Amino acid sequence: MRTAYVRRITKELIEKYNYQPPIPVEDLIAKLGLTIREVSTELDIDAKLDANKMRITVNRFQTNPFRRRFSLAHELGHFVLNHHIKPWEFEDPETGKSFVEPEADEFAGSLLLPQQLLTEHIKKGVPLNDIQTKFQVSNQALWVRLEIYRLTKFLRV
Ligand SMILES: [Zn+2]
Repeated sequence: MRTAYVRRITKELIEKYNYQPPIPVEDLIAKLGLTIREVSTELDIDAKLDANKMRITVNRFQTNPFRRRFSLAHELGHFVLNHHIKPWEFEDPETGKSFVEPEADEFAGSLLLPQQLLTEHIKKGVPLNDIQTKFQVSNQALWVRLEIYRLTKFLRV
């Protein structure tokens, strides 16, 4: 999985459009030429990319706004990282396992909670609740990022 590459892409997108948190995911999707289609389904699906139609479908029944933002960012990640073009190229040569899902998660996580910005907030001692509100992410997504960026050691207890 191309962690550094994915983070560079999200950083460049944020800088290109001069975004501040909360990163406006739906605006970015529109800027990159995709549309969002809302559907109502009982199926356990949050969102799905249809690259041929340049469209992301989201489940209207998924009402948690933080989860919706993450799902949209995840699907946008598949598109930006070209996972739909040659899916077989995104496999670990040793294990044969595809890394498109971890990469899309890294895209979503580093887009919504950019490493540099989150690190600054943590080192300044900004309370996690305030960070969550400012970046509009779930508690779970925030903790995942804190672990991945190795920031838990800076938390004040
Ligand atoms: Zn996915």
